[in-house]
Amino acid sequence: MSFESLGLQAELCRAVADQGYSEPTPVQRQAIPVILDGRDVLAGAQTGTGKTAGFTLPLLQLLNARPFNGAGTRPVRALVLTPTRELAAQVAESVQTYGRHMPLRAAVIFGGVKINPQIAALRRGVDIVVATPGRLLDHVGQGTLNLSKVEILVLDEADRMLDMGFIHDIRKILALLPKQRQNLLFSATFSQEIRQLADRLLNTPASVDVARRNTAAEQVAQVVHPVDKARKRELLSHLIGSENWRQVLVFTRTKHGANRLAQQLERDGLSAAAIHGNKSQGARTRALAGFKDGSVRVLVATDIAARGLDIDQLPHVVNFELPHVPEDYVHRIGRTGRAGNDGDAVSLVCVDEHKLLRDIEGVLGRTIPEVVLEGYAPDPSIRPEPIQNGRTGGPRNQRSQPRSHGGATGRPAGDVNGNRVYAAHGRSDDAGRGRRQGQNARRRPARARPVS
Ligand code: AMP
Repeated sequence: MSFESLGLQAELCRAVADQGYSEPTPVQRQAIPVILDGRDVLAGAQTGTGKTAGFTLPLLQLLNARPFNGAGTRPVRALVLTPTRELAAQVAESVQTYGRHMPLRAAVIFGGVKINPQIAALRRGVDIVVATPGRLLDHVGQGTLNLSKVEILVLDEADRMLDMGFIHDIRKILALLPKQRQNLLFSATFSQEIRQLADRLLNTPASVDVARRNTAAEQVAQVVHPVDKARKRELLSHLIGSENWRQVLVFTRTKHGANRLAQQLERDGLSAAAIHGNKSQGARTRALAGFKDGSVRVLVATDIAARGLDIDQLPHVVNFELPHVPEDYVHRIGRTGRAGNDGDAVSLVCVDEHKLLRDIEGVLGRTIPEVVLEGYAPDPSIRPEPIQNGRTGGPRNQRSQPRSHGGATGRPAGDVNGNRVYAAHGRSDDAGRGRRQGQNARRRPARARPVS
């Protein structure tokens, strides 16, 4: 099947061909025709499925088909909301890439960088805004952005937006939009909250469901290596070295843990960087760029920071620590095996984490194969400890039932407080809020760019 046969016009097909894509992915096959028809869409698609092009291509076509011919500054006609800055930057890059043969203009808006270049970009007039919710509302508050002419709204990674406490911001933004509009909601998982949001937002939506909900990408080979907590770092260095992994994304539960691990790996002679919400936007951008160009071999990330990272053909993901929220495991391993490439996801699991592992397997609907590596078999005399942050805890004397101990796996409190107070400026939008990052930022991604 070709992109043309989905109803996409020549300029877009040419841009897609420039990327070397010969065939639409399943989410693109399903989503593009219904979006072109003007319908609302509820899409269950994980990252890595090609979902960004799935909504960006038809969105560009619809806007281009009804160009703004009025007097004055061109109004914002499409709004894409994302949970993280990195995802906003990546979606904006896709808009730029796919819209290169069209006369549309886009801007990307997120916190952690100076607001003035964004204001200047908006003043010049843009058709499409890709934004994280907090900074978007800052602009509305300052009168530098008008959303009253939005025709198409996209909520990308809506589940993560709710996890990060953005529901209040989303409600505020919805109230600023015209009632008559097309709505596209993309989510990897479908909790009760997402369904409620979808019910409120969407008007008889077409359903697009490519990856089975709450299941991991099938082309990802998953394995668990049981190992003692104190030996995880040693095993990780051993795996990277002995398997000659050149590009590895490693997940930790905490920002502090990410920093510490990156430093330890550096001491082991592996080039490593940490990426999390306490890092300035500039440091995050540099770490990601180093990882993409191969100068950083190991990127250590927390869940929220890693959300939305699009790194082509990322071959290895390591769960240095299992996440508290089982669905985060699905998101994590969605970083590998992207767009049909093979990938592998390795989890280093100590005795404290068996309950977390069981919960993850519950979500996956299957067990993950376990392989004990020679020389790294767990010491059977070590008993489970509650996991830090008081989120888990449990009986300590159940060695004989290794997968049945542990306590409640409460959801992490998250980095974002849902009842935030609006400041006039300087808010960051994702993990690591509360720290001023603007002065460190080196990058100004919010310049309005002609996408042609
Ligand atoms: P996404 O799910 O939007 O994050 O996309 C995952 C990756 O798939 C990105 O690196 C895209 O560039 C790539 N991609 C998107 N569409 C296609 C396609 N039709 N064929 C091959 N790769 C694609």
